[in-house]
Amino acid sequence: MSLIHTTSQELFQRAQQSIPGGVNSPVRAFRAVGGKPLFMKSAKGAYLYDEDGNQYLDLINSWGPMILGHAHEEIEKAVRDALPGSLSFGAPTRREVEMAELIISMVPSVEKVRMVNSGTEATMSAIRVARGYTGRDKMIKFEGCYHGHGDSFLIAAGSGAITLGVPDSPGVTKGVANDTLTAPYNDLEAVQTLIDANPAQIAAIILEPVVGNMGLVPPAEGFLQGLRDLCTKEGIVLIFDEVMTGFRLAKGGAQELYGVTPDMTTLGKIIGGGMPVGAYGGKVDIMNSVAPAGPVYQAGTLSGNPIAMSAGMAALSYLNEHPELYAQLQQITDKLVNGTKQNMQELGLNYTINQVGSMYSVFFTEEPVTDFASAKTSDLELFGRYFHQMLQRGIYLAPSQFETLFVSSAITDDLAEAYLAANREALQALQA
Ligand code: PMP
Repeated sequence: MSLIHTTSQELFQRAQQSIPGGVNSPVRAFRAVGGKPLFMKSAKGAYLYDEDGNQYLDLINSWGPMILGHAHEEIEKAVRDALPGSLSFGAPTRREVEMAELIISMVPSVEKVRMVNSGTEATMSAIRVARGYTGRDKMIKFEGCYHGHGDSFLIAAGSGAITLGVPDSPGVTKGVANDTLTAPYNDLEAVQTLIDANPAQIAAIILEPVVGNMGLVPPAEGFLQGLRDLCTKEGIVLIFDEVMTGFRLAKGGAQELYGVTPDMTTLGKIIGGGMPVGAYGGKVDIMNSVAPAGPVYQAGTLSGNPIAMSAGMAALSYLNEHPELYAQLQQITDKLVNGTKQNMQELGLNYTINQVGSMYSVFFTEEPVTDFASAKTSDLELFGRYFHQMLQRGIYLAPSQFETLFVSSAITDDLAEAYLAANREALQALQA
């Protein structure tokens, strides 16, 4: 049993001549799992199709945005309907107002919101606003959290930065790095120590309220509320980076699920329905410091792009009008996770699985995974073999141990059964 990947391999060969590493985003290159990346041609519902015509059940879903599956009818229709109206105006539009109003109605912390073009732009802008608003320079982030590729965040970063072994990237100046303080995830005491050592100097604490970028790691009981209390007491802006979790773990994201409201929220992925969109928002008095309402500068030629807004509006409206979808996603993900646990039990394996809603990770370690240090106890070589065993069986997983999987509503019970059969065979093959 071996799928043919000749066309993908030819394209990768060509791509390496014209694109750094042959890809436009590092994790796509399969460096962490070995082998060569697959070049995709189309996708529909739960399936991806590569250039060689192979079909895969998709557990990445474009790293989160395709929560409704690929080529969703309502999103595609919204884009088609918007096309004749121009691809870009560079002037305000009705759609942007409607989009802002919808986001505000869905996300508890957001009272005003600014649209940008990626998650990276959202976090870079949010941190600038927090600094401008507080008049302080430093921020606290958590080891293994990823907040895009902005300079201040490439310190102890997760996702592709871990995968390539360059958590502190060349090109990030010492000055910038000095303003980024890091603490282990789920460690409130470490945060308190940093605050005590830098009195009245910390502008913001930024975190993924549920981490996806060191594999899936949930917040410990009381961690989010503890941060909320510390930030309120110390006048620090609490930023939830909900680029992955926003509109995924609940209509209002992790902040709704855990009942903890940050001062600012960064959004991306689902908010664009697959188009390049991000957003940051928060309390009115903070957001009023953004230009032209206030002095903190942030801008974008294509921000609020009509096609992107149409796709995003269609995705968010669908989720807003179908709240039952979250229970369905939970149920199908429970089935994938419980089935995997059962397969492991029957094979005498005891690897750790973390899950929150429709996000989960299988860590190839027997230790509980609660932070970056414990995530790193995983056997990466074994993960790589598992990844390829699944790929050969038509299951497309994230090509790194330090990424979460994303389940879409296009995964039916039958597809979950097929996944679990492949999972059992793949785990068995690892033991051979
Ligand atoms: N924040 C988080 C939590 C993310 O997961 C990501 C991307 N995976 C980003 C920010 C950056 O978003 P983008 O890749 O759209 O720039």
